[in-house]
Amino acid sequence: MKIEYLSEGDQEERVVRSSGALNCGGRCVLKLHVKGNTIVRISTEDDIPEEKALQLRGCLRCRAYRSHMYHPDRIQYPLKRIGKRGEGKFQRITWEEALNTIAENLIAVRNEFGPDGIYLPYATGNPGLISERTWMRRLLGLFGGYLSYYGSYSSACTQAATPYTYGTTATGNSREDILNSKLVILVGWNPAEMISGTNTAYYLRKLRESGTKIICIDPMYSATAATLADQWIPIRPTTDNALFDAMAYVMVKENLQDQSFLDRYCLGFDEEHMPEGIPYGNSYKSYVLGLGPDGIPKTPIWAEAITGIPAETITALAREYATVKPGALIQGLGPQRHAYGEQIVRGGTVLAAMTSNIGISGGWASGSGYAARDPFVASIPSINPNPAQISMFCWPDAILRGKEMGPEDSVRGADGLKSNIKLLLNLGGNCLINQHSDINSTKKILEDEELVRFIAASDHFITPSTRFADILLPSDSMYERDDIIKPWDPDDFVLFMNQAVKPLGECRNGYDWISDLAGKLGLREPFTEGRTLSDWHRYLVDKTAEKNPGFPDYETFKQQGIYRWEHAKPCIAFEAQISDPENNPFPTPSGKIEVFSKALWEKQQSDIPAVPKYLSAWEGPEDELTQEYPLQCIGHHTKRRVHSTFDNSELMEEVEPHAVWINTKDAEARSILSGDRVRVFNSRGIVSLAAKVTVRVMPGVVSIPQGAWWTPDENGTDTRGCVNTLTKYQPTPLAFGNPSHTCLVQIEREENDEHAIDH
Ligand code: SF4
Repeated sequence: MKIEYLSEGDQEERVVRSSGALNCGGRCVLKLHVKGNTIVRISTEDDIPEEKALQLRGCLRCRAYRSHMYHPDRIQYPLKRIGKRGEGKFQRITWEEALNTIAENLIAVRNEFGPDGIYLPYATGNPGLISERTWMRRLLGLFGGYLSYYGSYSSACTQAATPYTYGTTATGNSREDILNSKLVILVGWNPAEMISGTNTAYYLRKLRESGTKIICIDPMYSATAATLADQWIPIRPTTDNALFDAMAYVMVKENLQDQSFLDRYCLGFDEEHMPEGIPYGNSYKSYVLGLGPDGIPKTPIWAEAITGIPAETITALAREYATVKPGALIQGLGPQRHAYGEQIVRGGTVLAAMTSNIGISGGWASGSGYAARDPFVASIPSINPNPAQISMFCWPDAILRGKEMGPEDSVRGADGLKSNIKLLLNLGGNCLINQHSDINSTKKILEDEELVRFIAASDHFITPSTRFADILLPSDSMYERDDIIKPWDPDDFVLFMNQAVKPLGECRNGYDWISDLAGKLGLREPFTEGRTLSDWHRYLVDKTAEKNPGFPDYETFKQQGIYRWEHAKPCIAFEAQISDPENNPFPTPSGKIEVFSKALWEKQQSDIPAVPKYLSAWEGPEDELTQEYPLQCIGHHTKRRVHSTFDNSELMEEVEPHAVWINTKDAEARSILSGDRVRVFNSRGIVSLAAKVTVRVMPGVVSIPQGAWWTPDENGTDTRGCVNTLTKYQPTPLAFGNPSHTCLVQIEREENDEHAIDH
């Protein structure tokens, strides 16, 4: 496909204000410079004085979006599969044929299997308030329902575990409040690349300039550790709770915990504050002192052997966090994506309670950290009459044995599923293969047309996931439509994305084609309610304005491109609960911060303890499998991709060539030099890619930047290097989340590969 960058005719440049709508962690103001029907340049907000508002400046990714939307491989026409499913062979068809085929299959599957047979998988590509997934949920709700999911590949464990402590996931202060911290400890958090709020790195830079100490705990010397931190403490993946337990041990032994805070606000820290009926020895304090059932004191020496952090560093860290106040121990999402990721979430909350950093400016309650102040922005109404849900990670099980699944297999809202999944609508997603686990096993499930009767997908490219589509539709891009987009937590603004150009080829807006699909299902009128797409935008603005006095009207909002809420002061999570606990109990069963959760105790599952604990992970550093596969493999985010978006951009590959990061010592032991082609493998698969030999990853750990597109050769070796060729499909015990960073591998230099030049 040849795409003209410039159209004939009108060459006058105009600037259109929009934003980024990627699953990136930020939301920025982007200025699209347009000539004719072509975006010729993308710049960012640079025209707001700092005293008025903080600029929302874009990073390299949206600014390189032209390399995505004008990529020569972008699909511009509906396609139908002509080869074996998954082979990636397609033929151009009309929209009419494509939508007829989808409608026929929807009707057939609904009639034979009911709503549990229809699944709309987790996906985050091409988002926005009016994404295709929004419209499809609305349509399927009207059609009789579908099987939905809960949780997310990003944050399943923190979403599930945090409420057991606090009763809510809204545990985060406003981001600017970090400027009031006297000590900041970042655990597996890399906002310099993961963004996590557009101006987070800006605040950390200001904080550092003010002399506040920033410590990064991470297996990798991340961009944040390198540019914003005073100290880097490398830690073995999956062992964060051993560190937390030992920090708690030091605090207790040296009487550094704020006992009056614990006595007043917490349940289950010590034996004196336990729920009724719980046998002696099950408090958190008893656990760390070795007075509980395991009898092991969680000393810094004990933790050193597990985490790889010297005992004296652990002791110093505990003393520092306990005495420098206020302090913010902020957990990123990476550490909770492991075998027992629920534990690190609750472990951090206990340390925050022991140091009384909850409910105060400059502190941080830990846990999810979702914004405690979340301004209301309306969304498109949809109702799913089917109450059954599964964890977003467990859909392969629901394909293979859905009818056998119950609550013990992640089902919520029903005692069990009435059908296996038979039809998938994968809209703007790469989680069917690439961003899921154990690609080689998943591939076999998707290939089987008996198991999955029909797969429809929409996207900009034939990706590893859309390769498995029976019908593949060409989506519009985020600059080819009007849209409204909310920021990531915890920012107080909302953006209007103005359409800059018309969609390429036969790419269509989701509302447009899903309305036509609704027509084929006899549901056009209830689906559209007679509204055009811009009528729906007006609906969203009007509904938002109803709950936000002063919110601009549609025309003004569209023209300004942004609305910023103004607040007199930053929001502090749990401020009311701490300042006036009698009148503001925590939304937990006890009304307290539940260090010990009776609800978890009642599960009586050793991998779901009632107090947070270090649990030795399968395929962690203590697993016997290390004899065969001695390296822990994780997958970090980089600035050159948003998950798997941009992987096919040559421009971005130049920014940061894809390679497995390996420590110099591990590389030396294997005669590997930077740039060598290596094989990373375990029992689940083999990937072949270049090595990056560096001290920026700790010994014993390798990292394959996540999001590379799985590209198997005829032997099944992934020649691009997708980390999920190696990861295991084993849901975490409580959240049923993805344990992506729990994975053992071995590496060897590829035979016949002469040492290549460093890159
Ligand atoms: S990728 Fe995210 S952080 Fe970067 S410019 Fe786009 S919206 Fe902003």
